[in-house]
Amino acid sequence: MMLAMVALLVEVALRVAEPWPVKVLIDHVLGSAARPAWLPGALDPSMLAALCGLALLTIVGLRAGAAYVETIALALAANRVLTRLRGALFHRLQLLPLTYHQSSRAGDLTVRLTSDVGMLQDVTLTAALPLLADAGILVGMVSLMAWQQPLLTLVALVPMPLFLWRWRGAHRRIRDAARIQRRREGAMAATASESLSAIRTVQALSLTDVIGESFTRENQRTASQGVKAKRLSAGLERSVDVAIALSTALLLWYGTRLVLRQQMTAGDLLVFAAYLKTAFKPLQSFAKYTSRLGKASAAAERVLDVLDRTPGVVDPPHAIVAPPLRGDIHLDDLHFAYHAEAPVLAGVSAHIRPGELVAIVGASGAGKSTLVHLLLRLYPPSRGRIIVDGHAVDTLALASWRSQVGVVLQDTVLFAGTVRDNLTLGTAGRSEAQVLAALRLANADAFVAALPQGLDTVLGERGATLSNGQRQRLSIARAVLRDPPVLVLDEPTVGLDEENEAAVCEALLRLARGRTTFLVTHALHLAARADRVLVLGSGRLVEDGTPADLLRRGGAFASWYRDQSARTSGAVVPLPVSHAG
Ligand code: ADP
Repeated sequence: MMLAMVALLVEVALRVAEPWPVKVLIDHVLGSAARPAWLPGALDPSMLAALCGLALLTIVGLRAGAAYVETIALALAANRVLTRLRGALFHRLQLLPLTYHQSSRAGDLTVRLTSDVGMLQDVTLTAALPLLADAGILVGMVSLMAWQQPLLTLVALVPMPLFLWRWRGAHRRIRDAARIQRRREGAMAATASESLSAIRTVQALSLTDVIGESFTRENQRTASQGVKAKRLSAGLERSVDVAIALSTALLLWYGTRLVLRQQMTAGDLLVFAAYLKTAFKPLQSFAKYTSRLGKASAAAERVLDVLDRTPGVVDPPHAIVAPPLRGDIHLDDLHFAYHAEAPVLAGVSAHIRPGELVAIVGASGAGKSTLVHLLLRLYPPSRGRIIVDGHAVDTLALASWRSQVGVVLQDTVLFAGTVRDNLTLGTAGRSEAQVLAALRLANADAFVAALPQGLDTVLGERGATLSNGQRQRLSIARAVLRDPPVLVLDEPTVGLDEENEAAVCEALLRLARGRTTFLVTHALHLAARADRVLVLGSGRLVEDGTPADLLRRGGAFASWYRDQSARTSGAVVPLPVSHAG
């Protein structure tokens, strides 16, 4: 930046000097004005003309050099700043609370990250920086003019307020149009990414035309805002042309009078005319760049909007790095609400011993997933604490806690990449034998071996080339490789066919062995194989005990269990022995 600023000053000074050789030529070679002290009187006119030419060449040459250095230095600085900005933006997006992500559209956020930052980068380099140089030139030249001929300068600047008045109005409207356009572009990208990532549903329900039409509409509206901004800026450019012509006419009219009255030389008038032309160039570019600057400021607003938001759950200032945990967990009077008026958890307390397999059951919407989200620290509880091996979980460094919690969710998302990459993501340095053992434990060895390239088969985006059950089993293998003391399994068997469900259940029970496990499930035959069942109802624990106890007590769990068993097999299934027993 420093280098660029020095080069900028040099460029401005040289631009100011540029018309002077011509002035000397007109006044002292062609004309016969008295030579000032700094011009050697003995030089003959042809020599002086040659010197003027040489001076012009030198000035322009040096100016070109300075402009080059300035452009490169500024480009370097701007690129570095914006690359860091993009990095910071992505980092912040990753830390923003889930509530933010749930109320924004991923496509729009991607546009902010790529095209909005790109727009800033582009405009800084191609509009803001040249404008800075032009503004320096404007100030330099107008000051020099004012110093030499204050009255003439004043006359030439009469149309300026006209320009400023036009510019102010247009600028605001251009920025508004650009803001709407950026927002529409975000919405358009979001529509596209949503429908493309659900392309199977779109094609199956034959929604292509409906979605295509809504996309086209948004596309056209975006274009019409773009045209509006262009029209405004074109209008502004033309009024600048008129303002400049007015200034030049005034300068020539009043300047000629001064020359005729011999209050200045013809060369001076020429220098002034040249200054006016150069000095007003920034105004012209300003008009031209206003629409791009408008877009950039709209883009900047969208970027800042993200950067200004407070991250969700972050490490406290003196976070402790969690030691290897045993998995002794106290849920201590947990309260939580997504919206203040609708509490989801209203005081849940339980003590879970290391290695215990705890099934969490309850009606849909009872808060089961919410409870495990609090455990994963995706949301902070509004009241109450979670204590792990004697540490309040919110005093532990987030990464050190989450790395000791294995997760298998209802809808496992895999990343585009090989099976192996997906399994070892976040757990580097696992041997081939360990990976194969994990696949065996997860009942996934057979189907992975049958894939075209085995472990090195590349999966589609989100793992779309596998079935649900296969994705679940890979997710179990991933958890095995992480070897965590605590497990969170959130409806891992939902939507699986019988065969897959049996394979997944078996794998899950093997995975859970020796780990403190929270298993949210609607499959009560699976819950019945847990060491303990917590029944949630309206945000509170309504039952808590071993499956056998709860069945004997004949409460909600017992009646659901009997209903479900009767529905699936026509008879009450005998209660299987708990895996730990
Ligand atoms: P369960 O897992 O027992 O079916 P959840 O914990 O998913 O229940 O949800 C409990 C309640 O919280 C439900 O009423 C649900 O509508 C609401 N809820 C869940 N997630 C959100 C969210 N991200 N924003 C607002 N409300 C939510």
